[in-house]
Amino acid sequence: MIRPGHVFHRKPSGLLPSAQSAEGVTILDNYGRRYLDASGGAVVVNLGHARPEIARAVMEQLSQGYYFHPTMFTTQVVEDLATSLAAHAPLGISRFYFMTTGSEAVETAIKLARQIQLARGEESRHRLISRWRSYHGLSLGALAATGRTSFRTPFAPMFKDSIHIPPPYCLRCSYGLEPESCGLRCAEALEEEILNLGPETVSAFLGETVSGATLAVYPPPKGYWPKIREICDRYGVLLILDEVMSGMGRTGKWFASEHYGISPDLVTLGKGLSGGALPLSAVGVQEEHYSLVVETGGFVHGGTFSHHPACAAAGLAAVKILENEDLVQRARDKGEILGAKLEHALSDHPHVGDIRGLGMMWGVELVKEKETLKPFDRSALVLEMVWEKLFSDGVILYKSLGLAGKDGEGLVVAPPFVINEPEMDMLVSALKGALNHVLGV
Ligand code: PMP
Repeated sequence: MIRPGHVFHRKPSGLLPSAQSAEGVTILDNYGRRYLDASGGAVVVNLGHARPEIARAVMEQLSQGYYFHPTMFTTQVVEDLATSLAAHAPLGISRFYFMTTGSEAVETAIKLARQIQLARGEESRHRLISRWRSYHGLSLGALAATGRTSFRTPFAPMFKDSIHIPPPYCLRCSYGLEPESCGLRCAEALEEEILNLGPETVSAFLGETVSGATLAVYPPPKGYWPKIREICDRYGVLLILDEVMSGMGRTGKWFASEHYGISPDLVTLGKGLSGGALPLSAVGVQEEHYSLVVETGGFVHGGTFSHHPACAAAGLAAVKILENEDLVQRARDKGEILGAKLEHALSDHPHVGDIRGLGMMWGVELVKEKETLKPFDRSALVLEMVWEKLFSDGVILYKSLGLAGKDGEGLVVAPPFVINEPEMDMLVSALKGALNHVLGV
């Protein structure tokens, strides 16, 4: 039995079980219950739990020295991690700045974009454009860029110049158009917004390459990112891709931008970068931008825990596991199998509106009416009930909450890449069982 203490849990939701140990795709709690962690927590544990290689690499680094101030020293492990990431990164991305959380990576990227514009002599470019229904982090800059209104509302008066365009969410297109004939209207919205604000004021555009936490996973249509890239180039606007969730092999490619054949100016990583062993995030940037900023006085930025060597050791060990076990390819191959299993079991379900994904990142959108895609009322808490039922049956997925009955809500299925087929069958059948149980099908 766990003794309750003084931890500030987010909501007083009763006593949480205490996690005792974990291995592979399984977590064990203090009551001896086993959970199949089919979302790697918040899409973090990409390589499976408690990988001994990561634990050993971290211990080794800790015992050699755990803290060196990042402006006074570099360390071999941080240099090696940046080099290994550069080898897999999109074209031209060659320099990496390390932080701890995804929110910090996003903040860092927003600030770095502004400094690149300053270094180019574009002093009036300070605005960031992002998208509605997105998630970029909890800190005020990243939250201002976030487009999920329920997360923003209490703090909205504190945001200045927070500009959003509609996301590429074809299932519920903001313009009421069809994907075959829309001409990528939602990408054109970027051009309109840039012209509306004045291109000379816009620093960067930020978007999740594949939407994750707030759209229950939504890969945009193939032409979306090339069109956005073209618009950014036309107006001197930098493109920041947020791959905190979708990077590091999660979509079956090292970087999700590979699916779209484009390279960003800046890219953020987090979550799976260290396999979840320690907090580690990064911003990758094009060599030419890095050189420009360095030549014009350097990046005005820095944190106590930037470039932390123990976190970097976890990151480097995680990259080696991905390489040695060919796990990115595996995420791609096994991901297709997982998608097919979800389709097979759930596509006819009267309360499943859509199933979509890439690699090991899938979303199952729940609806009240299948024909009209009418969502459940948020107050009905259907998603929470399905999630609770699954959790009590020992299967963990990740909730993506809808917006007051207006758009979809769903469950994110994003297991560690090492999941095997019987475990996939277990999770799919538990999900179907939980839906039927809660919705009386
Ligand atoms: N960006 C994206 C795309 C994310 O999914 C998240 C976390 N869900 C963040 C940023 C913020 O990361 P963190 O919670 O580590 O600060």
